[in-house]
Amino acid sequence: MLFLSLACLRMPAVNGSGTLGGTAGDLVRLVAMGHGRSRAELARLSGMAPSSVSLRVEELIDAGLLREDGEGASRGGRRPRQLRLHESAGVVVAADVGSHHVRMAVMDLAGRVLLTHELPGEIAEGPEAVTERLAGHVRLTLRQAQVSDLPLLGIGVGMPGPVDPASAKVVAPSRMPGWNDYPVRERLTELLGVRVVVENDANLMAVGEHRYGWPGRDNLMAVKAGTGIGCGIIASGRLHRGRGAAGDISHVPVHAAQRVTCSCGHSDCLEAHASGAALCRTLRAQGIEVSSTGRLVELVNNGVPEVTNLVRNAGRLAGQVLTPLVNFFNPDVVVLGGGLSAAEPFIAAVRGAIYERCLPLATRDLEIATTVTGQDACMLGAGSVVLDEVLTSNWVDETLTPRS
Ligand SMILES: [Zn+2]
Repeated sequence: MLFLSLACLRMPAVNGSGTLGGTAGDLVRLVAMGHGRSRAELARLSGMAPSSVSLRVEELIDAGLLREDGEGASRGGRRPRQLRLHESAGVVVAADVGSHHVRMAVMDLAGRVLLTHELPGEIAEGPEAVTERLAGHVRLTLRQAQVSDLPLLGIGVGMPGPVDPASAKVVAPSRMPGWNDYPVRERLTELLGVRVVVENDANLMAVGEHRYGWPGRDNLMAVKAGTGIGCGIIASGRLHRGRGAAGDISHVPVHAAQRVTCSCGHSDCLEAHASGAALCRTLRAQGIEVSSTGRLVELVNNGVPEVTNLVRNAGRLAGQVLTPLVNFFNPDVVVLGGGLSAAEPFIAAVRGAIYERCLPLATRDLEIATTVTGQDACMLGAGSVVLDEVLTSNWVDETLTPRS
């Protein structure tokens, strides 16, 4: 069982007196964040009277949203019991939709992964077919995790293309024919009747890595180098989306020996030279049939020189694009993930390029590392963002309303 820290959950707004508002939802959020482990802590942080907190906590326990567990630290007198989110209050589903697969997990409200599995699926089949199959996968995954009787509170979905944060539509994706402007969120909500959060996969990789792999390293870049190339940014502990395109390094121009036209219409974008898809295409032109980034990495690990040289060159190009970004943003960590990050020559070349050209102050304390959460990074990020959304929504108050 994997525990995903919710310590980075958005904090409810603090009012003028330095305390929080006083709804049942605020109390649940404080428990989820690990700040409010007892009635006394909840009273102090929420600004509610201790008697009101006790009443609300009893309601939340009766409603099956909170439970008491073990004993907290004593400040003299009787030790308080610790409040926790009740695991059976509900579940969320996290889905990482890749070019050729869907990786899916069921998570409880405390962020624990109950079940993970990977299913085949071609993004190129188009939005309608993929979305319907995704809904079927969600139902199947819930049955397999034996949680079909628990409330499904939301679904987090990572897509391998740019996502407009306002509409949750995929916008001008490079390898997703037919997906431009498709209302993924609306369609999934229609099919499953729950809250759906849609986010770019590299952004989700950044969230997953930050929360699970590098908690406390609040300035992080996560590069997803797989079939395509993208990057997600955590700035001051939060996902930085900009207007939706932040971190998109795919279409940064690079200097390359041969001119290649990118899917965006411009010449010599990073993705056109250094993505898994681009490398497979180059090898095919040389008469070497390679069907996927995974197969490409196998050939590198088997020491095939043509493939190793190509992958090393891709790492050098990615490193050259990252160098000014590392100088500019000065992160604590650059995380390298996606299929190509399993090839050591790729990692070495990215590192080499960054250390060669970055300012000493930018690299002095910089960590350049492969993902801690590996192939689960985007999926864990998808779970995190949907849990955030559930716990900051009116769900708790709506759950309590019929009982009060
Ligand atoms: Zn391009």
